[in-house]
Parts: sequence; structure tokens; C-alpha cells
Amino acid sequence: MAETMRRNFDVLVVGAGPAGLAAATSAARVGAKVGVVDDNPAVGGQIWRGEVSKATSDASNWAAKLHSLGVEVICGAQIVHHDIASRVLFAETRFALLEIRFSKLILATGARERLLPFPGWTLPNVMAAGGLQAMVKSGLPISGKRVVVAGSGPLLLAVAAYLRAHGAKVLAICEQASWNSLASFASGLLSHPGKLRQALILQRQLLGIPFWTNSWPVRALGREALERIIISRNGTQREISCDYLACGFHLVPNVELASLLGCALEGGCVRVDDAQQTSVAGVFCAGEPTGIGGLELALIEGQIAGIAAAGKSERLRELRGRRRKAQQFARRLEKAFKLRPELKTLPDSGTIVCRCEDVTHARLARHSSWRDAKNQTRCGMGPCQGRICGPATQFLFDWDPGSVRPPLFPTRVESLASVSYIAPAEHSQLTGERQ
Ligand SMILES: Cc1cc2nc3c(=O)[nH]c(=O)nc-3n(C[C@H](O)[C@H](O)[C@H](O)COP(=O)(O)OP(=O)(O)OC[C@H]3O[C@@H](n4cnc5c(N)ncnc54)[C@H](O)[C@@H]3O)c2cc1C
Repeated sequence: MAETMRRNFDVLVVGAGPAGLAAATSAARVGAKVGVVDDNPAVGGQIWRGEVSKATSDASNWAAKLHSLGVEVICGAQIVHHDIASRVLFAETRFALLEIRFSKLILATGARERLLPFPGWTLPNVMAAGGLQAMVKSGLPISGKRVVVAGSGPLLLAVAAYLRAHGAKVLAICEQASWNSLASFASGLLSHPGKLRQALILQRQLLGIPFWTNSWPVRALGREALERIIISRNGTQREISCDYLACGFHLVPNVELASLLGCALEGGCVRVDDAQQTSVAGVFCAGEPTGIGGLELALIEGQIAGIAAAGKSERLRELRGRRRKAQQFARRLEKAFKLRPELKTLPDSGTIVCRCEDVTHARLARHSSWRDAKNQTRCGMGPCQGRICGPATQFLFDWDPGSVRPPLFPTRVESLASVSYIAPAEHSQLTGERQ
């Protein structure tokens, strides 16, 4: 049986990305006993991944702040289950099960990339854009490699700049959005000077790399790994030889934990009030799960959630004003990078959509709903638990994602056995249902 460790906090924050870090420090500053849990080995979230060991990085500055405020940071622990009525979350580490009690909870679980299937997308070296960036941060040699960056959203630019700075030869950036749509987005940046500055820095870093709008990958080719990619650009197809394709179609909020706790969703995002509180009393949410809005919005929402969860109201007025402005930017993002319907026709009948369970497009197309497809094909029942194929089938077939059930991630049986809070009905669900 796994060892069970117990913790108790006034405010528990799940996620140590920008939103979670801002929430934890804000709550601790006004006197709350705060804990932060994150499944990565160190704090920083997606944007500051792997930077905590660099002396003057944002991640190391935040880590120092947490330390000086007495916040307990628990990294390498994944929240897998809950008993929200008793205010308990269960997290699994490599060695133990953690039972974490709290008075108030802040969910800052971030977002992931949306991957859309097309023929050849499962070939080795066709990778998620942020995924390739993360692998390079972890030591994958990229110097001299030819990379095509494709899909949609500002993350493509950040990834291209990062890869180029680490020696990659970025051959092209292919954005599915139209030139008009991007031009109108760019003109809106004039009212967000900080974003405009970032855009100009990126533009300088990407100088000389072709940036194509109305462009997307239609087929990846290669014998054992990627060798060539076919890109559709303004309706004509061209083939490019490359070593890597870094591909992602904007981001999807990580709402599974919120959903499991019973928090209401709206348009695929967690619904929150003016204090970032969800529909479940005492449960707050900040950052990307409330809508894809970027770093600045994540930091502001985190501060509001932290102060409100600690039961204080200082600075909330000023922060709400800043949040309104940052939300305008988020709305512009959503409009500019809306996926075009043509992308629904990318997969052919043999294209694998659920790569965990090898389910093809043709097998899914026979079904009328996510639930039906899941029952008949095991789509979404593999290790990623539908985190990749769920958003893809939602876009391809307009399927509503089903309800979320515990455990949130594949979990050791001994951890489940240690969860003494599971209600009998849930327990039989867990032990009787194949995951
Ligand atoms: C792959 C990827 C790469 C990105 N790279 C960049 C970049 O280079 N530049 C840029 O400007 N923006 C980047 N972004 C966007 C950036 O993440 C956002 O703009 C913003 O910083 C999000 O902050 P956040 O705190 O809301 O979420 P995140 O930074 O995503 O933090 C959420 C944290 O919660 C953790 N978590 C989630 N669920 C659980 C659970 N059940 N148990 C424990 N921990 C959990 C996650 O592992 C993560 O560490 C990237 C996004 C993604 C998805």
C-alpha cells in the first residue's frame, strides 16, 4: 500500500504556472497558510518550464518569493481525485499519496495545445509545437535541424523564436488564420503597449523566416520518421523537406479538474465571478482554464483569486480594472485565431485520431457522440484520457466532451486503495470500469 502523507492549508493552489504563482504569493502576503501543488518537477508552468535553476529567471524569482513567504511547494505531484464535500484533494507522487486538506482552493491548471489529425501526423518528429520546445529545454539537440512550425496562434511565434535561438533552421511558419484576420489583431495591439512591445521583439527575432498566412499542413511524409511535409498555402500545395514539424492549433483550457469538482463551464472554460470564484463555493480559478488570455491575464487573475481566497479585498478594484483590459486582448486572440472549417477535412478515413487506442477517423465517423464513440471504439480511454483526441473530435464532429470521472489521470491501484474518502458508488465505478 502506498504511504499516505497529509497536509492542511488555508489556501491550496493547484498549478505553479504564472496564475498559480501569483495566486499563492498574493494569498500568503495577506497572512494565509498556502500550499502549491504541481505535477512538474519545478515551478514555472509552461512558459517558464525548466528555468528555475537559472539564477535570474522569472521562475527562480517566483520560487524565491514563495520561499520567503513560507509557501509550501509540492512539485512532482498530480491531483488525481477529490472529496470536495470534505475539502480534500488527493495527489499522487512517485512514491506516495498525498491527502491535502484546505479551506479554499484555487485551480490554476493552465492549458494544453490543440492537436488536429492529418495524414502522417503520428510519424516520429511530427511534434506539438510547445512539446518540441519543452523537449529542447530538456536537452534535445536541435542545432542545425530543419524545422517547419505550423498550425495557429501566437505560441507558434514564441516556439519558432526559441528554436531559432537554439540553433534550429526554421524554414517557415505556417498560420491557418487569414492575413486580414491577423492585420486586424495587430492593429488592436496599439491599445496594449506591453503586447505591442513583445510583438516587435518577436518580429526582430524572427527576421528572415517566411511567415505564411492561410497555410496549414495537409500531409506528413517519411519512411520511419518525418522527411517531408506538404503545406497548403492559399489553396496551392507545396512540399518541404524537413527534420521536424512543430505543430499546434492554439490552446485548449485544462478544465478537467474543475469539471470533476462540479464547477460550471461556459464555452469550454471555467465560469468565474468577479472574484474568480467558480460556481462551487470556496473554489476559485485563475489563468488559462477561465479562457486563453496569455501571461498578463494569468498573473492578474491569479492575484485576484489569491487575495479573494484569503478573504481580503485590498487592491481588488485596481486589479479588476487591469483584468478588464487584459480580457479585451483575450477576446481579440479568440477571434483572430478561430479555426477555419476547412481544417475539418484534413484527416482521411485511415488517419488515426485517437493515437493512444489507434482509432481511425473512419471508425469514429460512424458514431453520433463522444460517449457512443468512446463505448464502441475505446477512443479517449488510453493514457491521455481524451486530452488530445477529445478537443480534436469536438472540432471535427462537433461532439460535446463527456463528463469527467475520477481518477483524473491514470493512477496506481494502490493509491486508489488508499483513498479512504471515496464514496461507495464512486468506488465501484473506479474498480468496475476499464480506464
Ligand atoms: C505547451 C505550451 C507552451 C507554452 N509556451 C509559451 C511560451 O514559450 N511563451 C509564451 O508567452 N507563452 C507560452 N505558453 C502560453 C502560457 O502558458 C500562458 O500564456 C500562461 O502563461 C499560462 O499560465 P497559467 O498559469 O494559466 O498556466 P500554466 O503555465 O500552463 O500552468 C499550469 C500548471 O498546472 C499544472 N497542472 C495542471 N493540472 C494539474 C494537476 N491535476 N495536478 C498538478 N498540477 C497540474 C501544469 O502542469 C502546469 O505546470 C505556452 C502554453 C503551452 C500549453
